[in-house]
Amino acid sequence: MKKLSEAEFEAKRASKQIVYGPIKSRRLGCSLGVNILPHTVKLCSFDCVYCECGFSTPEKKEGLPTINQIEQSLRNRLLELIREKNLPDSITFSGNGEPTLHPDFEEIIGMALSVRDELAPQTKITVLSNATRIEEVKVFRSLKMVDNPILKLDSAVTETMRKIDMPHSPQYNSEGLIHRLQDFRGNLIIQTILVRGEHRGIKFDNTTEEEIEAYLEAIRKIGPRQVMLYALDRPAPADYIEKVKFQELAELAARIRDLGMSIDVSVAG
Ligand code: SF4
Repeated sequence: MKKLSEAEFEAKRASKQIVYGPIKSRRLGCSLGVNILPHTVKLCSFDCVYCECGFSTPEKKEGLPTINQIEQSLRNRLLELIREKNLPDSITFSGNGEPTLHPDFEEIIGMALSVRDELAPQTKITVLSNATRIEEVKVFRSLKMVDNPILKLDSAVTETMRKIDMPHSPQYNSEGLIHRLQDFRGNLIIQTILVRGEHRGIKFDNTTEEEIEAYLEAIRKIGPRQVMLYALDRPAPADYIEKVKFQELAELAARIRDLGMSIDVSVAG
């Protein structure tokens, strides 16, 4: 089957499909996307300055697909892909916001694992999450069950994290997050964007030496099995974002590698 281009993939995602793709992902291989969030509006607990979905409308849990609709879509697509001999390397929960905000997230992950075991046992289950809800026992338990929990840590310094990710909760802080991430006992992937710029007159920068030292200390404590480090090379909703050079990513990557971690570096276009 012909793979979707990035543009086709985005068009598909913007449509009313729960399951879209697969697309070729450099990190995940052939990746079948699953969006369990509304199709018309972003639903997220963050408002990251670099979010490709733009800034959130207020959190409204309307228009969420049901677990039956998700299962049907996933089964139908996997059966098509079996016929086409094109099973994906990963079933990837991503989409218009934060997937763990779906109230049935745990049941959906349980369903996806059993559909995967039945139809595509070699395929990994991946969840891209901003990690804001891992203190919820059900969310934590679900993320521990998937093959690739990819969790966001943009800064180990609360003030900077709040400027970059703009969490809706006024209590959300990096110290608590780092503490909770340690509970994964290393079986997680940390995803971090290097970014500096300005939004609504507030400057943000997670690339200073002070930031990097705090970040490396957090990574040392969390001990993830991999770190995905990236920078932006596409338009973002913030007023101004400076392009961080690949060389800077490479220098931080070398310091992470020195801690004994596996590291993946990329520029998101
Ligand atoms: S966590 Fe993801 S979806 Fe939510 S605002 Fe940030 S980039 Fe956008």
